[in-house]
Amino acid sequence: MSFQIKEASKVYDVLIVGSGAGGGMATKILSEAGFNIAVLEAGPNFDPANPEQQTQFKWPYESPRRGASTTRAFGDFDMAYGGWELDGEPYTHKNGTKFDWFRSRMLGGRTNHWGRISLRFGPLDYKRKDFDGKGDNWPIGYEDVRPYYDKVDKLVGVFGTKENIPNEPDGYFLPPPKPRLHELYLQKAGGKMGLPVIPSRLSILTKRVDNRRGACFYCSQCSRSCSIYGDFSSSSVLVKPALEYDNVDLYVNAMVREVLTDDSGKATGVSYVNKEDLQEYTVKAKVVILAASACGSARILLNSKSERFPEGLANSSGVVGRYLHDSTGASRSAIIPELMDRKRYNEDGVGGMHMYVPWWLNDKKNLGFSRGYHIEFWGGMGMPSYGAGMGIQNLNGRFQRKGENKKKAGGYGVGLKEDVYKYYGAMVGMAGRGESIPQKDNYCEIDPNVVDKFGIPVLRFNYNWTDDERKQAKHMQDTFEELFHNMGATPLGDKPGEESDHGLEAPGRIIHEVGTTRMGDDPKTSVLNKYNQAHDVPNLFVMDGGAFVSQADKNPTWTILALAWRASEYLTQEMKKMNI
Ligand SMILES: Cc1cc2nc3c(=O)[nH]c(=O)nc-3n(C[C@H](O)[C@H](O)[C@H](O)COP(=O)(O)OP(=O)(O)OC[C@H]3O[C@@H](n4cnc5c(N)ncnc54)[C@H](O)[C@@H]3O)c2cc1C
Ligand code: SF4
Repeated sequence: MSFQIKEASKVYDVLIVGSGAGGGMATKILSEAGFNIAVLEAGPNFDPANPEQQTQFKWPYESPRRGASTTRAFGDFDMAYGGWELDGEPYTHKNGTKFDWFRSRMLGGRTNHWGRISLRFGPLDYKRKDFDGKGDNWPIGYEDVRPYYDKVDKLVGVFGTKENIPNEPDGYFLPPPKPRLHELYLQKAGGKMGLPVIPSRLSILTKRVDNRRGACFYCSQCSRSCSIYGDFSSSSVLVKPALEYDNVDLYVNAMVREVLTDDSGKATGVSYVNKEDLQEYTVKAKVVILAASACGSARILLNSKSERFPEGLANSSGVVGRYLHDSTGASRSAIIPELMDRKRYNEDGVGGMHMYVPWWLNDKKNLGFSRGYHIEFWGGMGMPSYGAGMGIQNLNGRFQRKGENKKKAGGYGVGLKEDVYKYYGAMVGMAGRGESIPQKDNYCEIDPNVVDKFGIPVLRFNYNWTDDERKQAKHMQDTFEELFHNMGATPLGDKPGEESDHGLEAPGRIIHEVGTTRMGDDPKTSVLNKYNQAHDVPNLFVMDGGAFVSQADKNPTWTILALAWRASEYLTQEMKKMNI
């Protein structure tokens, strides 16, 4: 049931803020345990099968801008109701630093248009401090989370292959799609360098896992969200089924301001602004779960100030908002002359890469930087994307195949068509996504001077990369060049050097931000215990990426899902034992 109410007289068992990866999983597990649940989501309802919301099958020429560029981060038809900038919802920066904060305001949050790269953290990733002395270990290890990764694999579905790589644990995999041609080039080139180029691990159904969801039919448009629910999004796979039970109420367009507490310091519910009438409401519950994304949840806690909690709720450690960290990222693209004028055939596949390189140098301690990265690929003959002709003016006249005369740059009419035909499918790109070291001094806090359009104080960011991340980016660029060389590709543009931090993206650009309410055994240095429960407020949990102690060289969402499942099971037991 989905509705807006003036005043909730009901006291729910559990109130969940946010319906992305973490909130969706909590909703599913706790609704099945029989609790009365309220889910409060800042955005509207969303269903990719709803013809009014669907963009999956649109052609680029259907865009009203007809080729002119858009300010939307990933194109006109990407399914994000949001981006790095949101109208009337600013954030600010401190000390001239940079952090870009991506938000999606919709049922399912960012899982509607994420990349579906679904990697488990490995045993080393939970104990990196033991390895290099930096950052902190998690209070749990891989074996604590493994059963939940297994359950997530089986429930959601992920394709991949068993590889027996020590820090890349295998899971319960569906069959992977076969490599595309450029990926075979990469595999061969990687082989020469000792790099494992293996099938990617994406939560896209290459086989059905239940009767609700169809199997992927290779339209390659996952970022637009799948109308047959063939890929994972929290809204389609977790929240929607839970809404069929009569114990779940969904409040949409409900922008939560703060967690309310009683005199004893227990959470009693939340207050929120209804985005439709801009009035403020309260909803009461015995347990509050924040899953508004790492920075969204930190913001709510820091805004939940009271006499008892002057620094914000669950913040006696002063750590809420701190240890914020994103993945590192750097990229490069190239042309493979051998693939120019290539034969046309259907190279469609899933909406993402079919092969990737997991981090391969865990045994090397003398790289000059700590932690690793994996490499993601793009290329091939997908649907020509939005825009005018893949920047053909930067390509023509520059490349020639063996034995061919170089063509002059420029041209129009037939000459231009020939160029487009020649270069289509000959481009390849790669991007490193790596682990950064969490720093106490990288944080978000409340800006005392700025509120958003709902009157809620906004976040202010302070974030700097260290030399570890810069040197890692340099290693990425060196690896990309060697890979390009080994596959006979010509890199585009100059190799990013020291002046640009080797192409290291600004913090926040990789959209893997985590760590703001980290877990730990010591309440003086952490916000949550090892079950995502606030040290200071036992009936308050945070079930998003905020709980991470460190990021790993993997994308975070599979771990957010596994930890939210684990924490929801713990919460169920504690409530049944009347401990909460
Ligand atoms: C383009 C893109 C590609 C990505 N690719 C990958 C990938 O391949 N693999 C991977 O692992 N990760 C990927 N990610 C990251 C992934 O999307 C996030 O890790 C994941 O969605 C985080 O889940 P979450 O539940 O913490 O937050 P979200 O998914 O952001 O959900 C938070 C929800 O809370 C709601 N909310 C926020 N504040 C409030 C409030 N005050 N009141 C009420 N509701 C609120 C939001 O509207 C939102 O629905 C990608 C992200 C993007 C944007
Ligand atoms: S590629 Fe497959 S899973 Fe992705 S949107 Fe298309 S049909 Fe759905």
